[in-house]
Amino acid sequence: MKIFCIGRNYADHAAEMGSNVPKQPMVFMKPPTALLINDKPFYYPDFSNEIHYEAEIVLRICKNGKHVKPEFAHTYYDAIGLGIDFTARDLQRKCKEKGHPWEIAKGFDNSAPISKFWPLDDFEDLTSIQFSLQKNEVVVQKGDTAHLIFDYSDLICHISKFFKIQHGDLIFTGTPAGVGPVLKGDKLVGKIGDREVLHCEIR
Ligand code: ZN
Repeated sequence: MKIFCIGRNYADHAAEMGSNVPKQPMVFMKPPTALLINDKPFYYPDFSNEIHYEAEIVLRICKNGKHVKPEFAHTYYDAIGLGIDFTARDLQRKCKEKGHPWEIAKGFDNSAPISKFWPLDDFEDLTSIQFSLQKNEVVVQKGDTAHLIFDYSDLICHISKFFKIQHGDLIFTGTPAGVGPVLKGDKLVGKIGDREVLHCEIR
């Protein structure tokens, strides 16, 4: 399975990073070994001093597709969850400066804590899913998928031009403003609506 991630898909986050809003979805990938499931703790890696959280709505792909057309894109995902795209911001900054690929800053082991998934029927309005992240009981990120620059269909069409999407693949749809660092001992709680769906302790 593949994990696709989208950079700068909320204007407020692009602004806080001092980046322009992209004209096309910015796609990168994490390997399957990035997944951290069942609310397991995250162990702070020794190669970074600046791990940032990025809370994101995640789509689960339910069938294989290539060159998916916009009118059919909604049939390619069947469930939604919440994930954190942990980012070694210090390494990412160095990679960006040098124009190097940033996999080591984004795709390292356990860099993608993920909640369970819920079927689409569980959501009142798929185009406006509210989600949030708390750090030590303080809300640090609040998002609403209504503010996605590229919506689910845009993402599926764009990604499937380059990569065959396959049953079980995941798409991290991007993070809203409020990203920031974690320290050992921090406790993160992710919510979709009012429901706590993801817990992650930093050790
Ligand atoms: Zn992200």
